[in-house]
Amino acid sequence: MLNQIKGLHHVTSLASSAKRNNAFFTEALGLRRVKKTVNFDAPDVYHLYYGDETGSPGSVMTYFPFPNAGRGRPGTGEVGTTSFSVPKGSLKAWADRLSQRGTPDLRQDTRFGQDRLLFTGPDGDAFALVESEDEREPWTGNGVSEDMAIRGFHSADMRLRDAGASAELLKFMGYEEIDREDNVTRFAVPEGNDANIIDIETLPGVGFAAQGAGSVHHIAFAVENRARQLEVREALLDTGYQVTPVIDRDYFWAIYFRTPGGVLFEVATNEPGFDTDEDTAHLGESLKLPSQHAHLRDRLERYLEPIE
Ligand code: ZN
Repeated sequence: MLNQIKGLHHVTSLASSAKRNNAFFTEALGLRRVKKTVNFDAPDVYHLYYGDETGSPGSVMTYFPFPNAGRGRPGTGEVGTTSFSVPKGSLKAWADRLSQRGTPDLRQDTRFGQDRLLFTGPDGDAFALVESEDEREPWTGNGVSEDMAIRGFHSADMRLRDAGASAELLKFMGYEEIDREDNVTRFAVPEGNDANIIDIETLPGVGFAAQGAGSVHHIAFAVENRARQLEVREALLDTGYQVTPVIDRDYFWAIYFRTPGGVLFEVATNEPGFDTDEDTAHLGESLKLPSQHAHLRDRLERYLEPIE
């Protein structure tokens, strides 16, 4: 069993409008945009990152907004709900805030004894705010007060027809089963970061999801550095997983592999971080381009939709 993985690093999803996506995450949810760059493989599409002040691992929600992309169809074989951690007693204020903004599908429930507020994002993305004890420092620069501000991820929720092989994989990655309730099994990494929970929801009769706007594209798990990442890669290869080579994503190093349940996993390093090419005070303000796309700057600045 591995001990290098510490919890979530980031979650990456698809959107249909960069402007709407940016407004929702910065204005409604109050996160900080920590990077405005482009998709490595499709540089005419933004890659937007939202998180805490520095984009700490475990706080970063990222999006590929493909203009006018069709909506995904929810189902199994994907990450369903992405959950953020908020302070105890703050759900009422969040419900008021989100309902004033016309956020759809607001409803409250309890999972494993924790109160949560469920809602959908601009493309039908499934989100929850979960009340929990959390010492992380929130970003409060966008008008959401400290007593309610998002602390980072709480968990991600995989929807699977059959949990078996994915549960085994999580255990191999260092997660332990910590609780069960109805059709949901909760896993956590002991001594992980504050985003160390994964829930598996078993839905045997539900068809496979079709990916589109509002779908999660992949979830990334955090390792401290490149040496730990190579250890994880080696172990996954030895177990029979097809893992990509290490890829330089400018702000972290990444490897990817497809899980038995269909969800795409990434393992990403905590180094070098989002302040590698911008001062912390100005993160996310200017358009950053990967070096191989730097020559496209004039064209991309004219082509990409302004998001402010
Ligand atoms: Zn990623």
